[in-house]
Amino acid sequence: MRDNIPIKEEPISEYTVQDWARLHQVDVISFSDMLPIEYSNGHSENKNAQSIDSKFGDYSALDIWNMTARGVSHSIPDLSKIAFETRDICQTTFDAPAADRPMTLDRGAGRAPVVSMCYQGTPADMLCVAHEFGHALQYHLAQGRFVPPILRELAAFLAEAVLLRYVQREDPQLAAPLKAAARADDAIYLGQDGDLLRAALDDPQAAYDYRLNYPVARHLAHAVTTRSQPALWERIFRAQLTLPEMLARRQTGLANTLPAVPDPDQERPAINAYRVLGMMVLLDIETRQGEPDKAIETYYAARLAHLQAQTSLVAVDRAGKPFGYALWDVDPADPDLITLKRQAAPFGDHLELQERLQAQLPATACARSHHPRSARQEQTAW
Ligand SMILES: [Zn+2]
Repeated sequence: MRDNIPIKEEPISEYTVQDWARLHQVDVISFSDMLPIEYSNGHSENKNAQSIDSKFGDYSALDIWNMTARGVSHSIPDLSKIAFETRDICQTTFDAPAADRPMTLDRGAGRAPVVSMCYQGTPADMLCVAHEFGHALQYHLAQGRFVPPILRELAAFLAEAVLLRYVQREDPQLAAPLKAAARADDAIYLGQDGDLLRAALDDPQAAYDYRLNYPVARHLAHAVTTRSQPALWERIFRAQLTLPEMLARRQTGLANTLPAVPDPDQERPAINAYRVLGMMVLLDIETRQGEPDKAIETYYAARLAHLQAQTSLVAVDRAGKPFGYALWDVDPADPDLITLKRQAAPFGDHLELQERLQAQLPATACARSHHPRSARQEQTAW
């Protein structure tokens, strides 16, 4: 569990749920649409309990601490220096007694945060390291300024998501166990803690419980990490946005109106192919440029060829919604020479699509864009 309860803000029973909401400049009712229905009524069973509770690989806590710093540096270049500074100056204890709660202590301006947790090498422990790093980074940036607890937990969850993204790219074998651990955590933060929030909404005069922060922060973290948003993420770590501002962004930030799609079914390749084609069509219609004007047979033949040659990628976000796709050709004489034939990212997720592409293409590949409407026929894509 990633309880983060700084000593100085130990929940005090005379605080009510209403006080907690006011501390964040909102009314309790603002949280009413943050109760994901799929987690209500205890539907949170975890199929991966075995794998996420046992040690995975040979990663030390410091390895993960370091990877999280590198992940922040990679995802938010403007925080690069401060992320590595946080990595280096914090006092960390990773062999705390198992019964102790993981915690990061803010010691105010000019003094480095103190981190303490029990690390045993499980994927859940790794996420916990990233979580505490997120707190430490935010405390280091805040230099003693008070940050309300929902915004603190949001920064910590964001650091977990940043580690996940970094691992997907740099150490893919770690991605699946970390994702499974994150899903199991969702069941707790959105499920069990979501039930707490539900009860709190019914009784704003009830006593405040620190765990109420988790479902709100987790919900916001999911909303802001469906795609790469370095400028927004930086402001979250810097605690520059109030909760009302975050809530407003969440509503305007989710422009993707496409339906979520199920994971590919390995036993039904034809269905998968239809689904991929369908996603391309929907994305092209959203893009409202060029492709949808073509005759169906021309459009279809081009995509069928790419599907058969395995030179296509449809990128799906965490919510299962397609947000972009790409088609490319591989030079028959040089497999490292890739020509991008089409990149569609109608909701503005071009960087994210590019990252997915880079992860899929050979590391040595050199990609060129093909811009039929541009004066320059070719330009280096990255
Ligand atoms: Zn925390």
